[in-house]
Amino acid sequence: MSEKKPKFLHARWKYYKIVGDRVERLRKFCPRCGEGVFLAEHKDRYSCGKCGYTEYK
Ligand SMILES: [Zn+2]
Repeated sequence: MSEKKPKFLHARWKYYKIVGDRVERLRKFCPRCGEGVFLAEHKDRYSCGKCGYTEYK
């Protein structure tokens, strides 16, 4: 019987930022396409490359 030592798990929560008592995503999702489609960040706006949604800062 061989026993493997447990490896350290990489923390997934590094993709999130804790702000006060809530969790904030570091990247914005497209409100039209839904979660999984990120908005590309530009200097003055965010835009979705899939549907063309644009959100100004
Ligand atoms: Zn979109």
